[in-house]
Amino acid sequence: MIKKYDIVIIGGGPAGLAAAISARKNGIESTLILERDKELGGILNQCIHNGFGLHTFGEELTGPEYADRFIRQVREQNIEYKLNTMVINISREKVITAMNREEGMFLIQAKAVILAMGCRERSRGALNIPGYRPAGIYSAGTAQRLVNIEGYLPGREVVILGSGDIGLIMARRMTLEGAKVKVVAELMPYSGGLKRNIVQCLDDFGIPLKLSHTVVNIKGKERVEGVTLAQVGADGKPIPGTEEEYACDTLLLSVGLIPENELSREMGVELNRVTSGPVVNESLETNIEGVFACGNVLHVHDLVDFVSEEAAAAGKNAADYIKWQQPVEVPEQKQNRTIILESRNGVRYTVPAVIRPERMPEEMTVRFRVGAVYKNCYISCYFDEERVLHKKRTILAPGEMEQIKLTKEQILNASSLRKISILIEEE
Ligand SMILES: Cc1cc2nc3c(=O)[nH]c(=O)nc-3n(C[C@H](O)[C@H](O)[C@H](O)COP(=O)(O)OP(=O)(O)OC[C@H]3O[C@@H](n4cnc5c(N)ncnc54)[C@H](O)[C@@H]3O)c2cc1C
Repeated sequence: MIKKYDIVIIGGGPAGLAAAISARKNGIESTLILERDKELGGILNQCIHNGFGLHTFGEELTGPEYADRFIRQVREQNIEYKLNTMVINISREKVITAMNREEGMFLIQAKAVILAMGCRERSRGALNIPGYRPAGIYSAGTAQRLVNIEGYLPGREVVILGSGDIGLIMARRMTLEGAKVKVVAELMPYSGGLKRNIVQCLDDFGIPLKLSHTVVNIKGKERVEGVTLAQVGADGKPIPGTEEEYACDTLLLSVGLIPENELSREMGVELNRVTSGPVVNESLETNIEGVFACGNVLHVHDLVDFVSEEAAAAGKNAADYIKWQQPVEVPEQKQNRTIILESRNGVRYTVPAVIRPERMPEEMTVRFRVGAVYKNCYISCYFDEERVLHKKRTILAPGEMEQIKLTKEQILNASSLRKISILIEEE
């Protein structure tokens, strides 16, 4: 017998938890979370530093504390979940194939699915660094897990490639554990991480950040013995003669996160080339009706608070979808109005990518990232050719997610509106 649920949520990280709680608050009893790990909470379980929850709770929590607030609500509301359960396939008809030790392989029929599988780290294989394959090369997240959960110190003399948030946080963590972090090298002329992490994790510990630098060689056959850094030019290629040697036993890679969308791709969900996450509409619904996405599987977030906020919206929208069975009924003549969100002049993408005005909430957040550092500029929003927002910013950086708010009233009033553009302007 195939088990049936109204909403099945794939992934029990902060996104999955917030989506499930919101679906329940919005009246859906039959909800199931499927999580491949042995506990709920996702990546937050290994993030034992503080800095989580400032927006949501107005306090600085550690990752596990933040996750715990949501896990408690899941338990209090008797929301069903299965741990150690890996989802291996989702069909377009929303039949989920999953497996665990107790039940083996089994099928579940869902009326709606919420994708909340998070993201994974880019590995060395994606980088083409010459040299052997010695021990001592880890992704920053793996090192974080080894130190914070397994209780191992991966090395004593460390070089970090990439200045994304995980790399910055691990620079501090390894230092606090007694290792010497010699340098953080970043290929781009700016850091990929949050400003607060550069200050608190590098500057406070005197760890140098070398922008426009990369690793051009790794020395050592059995174990890393050193790395060679070189400066890169505007074309991203190493500049001969700028090489510097660093003796070390460990190289940590923090070179980007990739949304986990193998399941989504196989089921036919359309993906955005920039984010590698699903293309969604105002309801965070993918091109497959009744399949929603939120959190890092949709686009990589900087702060978990925004993950929770977005996931709560996905949970509500999935609940509404179940209640209505069909997408919202709107008067016939309005049904085809779809407004495209266009990102240009430095804005790399927007989530959502399209809006159906009649179905949007009273106020909607549009999230995006910029492609370079911009100083003393404006975030502008145009309704077709008319500028409706022009917000001064002293600095914009790729490491920080940006957002603007749009209201339903504003969009319904613009009855002939076809395109909303979000861009960076100098004046
Ligand atoms: C090292 C690090 C430091 C961070 N520091 C901060 C910080 O200081 N402040 C802050 O606000 N944010 C921080 N963040 C960001 C925040 O932790 C993430 O934005 C958040 O965890 C994303 O939530 P998620 O639920 O989308 O993904 P995840 O937390 O990754 O959860 C996804 C879950 O889905 C499960 N899953 C995936 N595929 C399957 C499958 N096929 N079947 C079943 N289950 C599956 C995974 O096991 C996982 O539990 C940090 C992130 C990292 C990695």
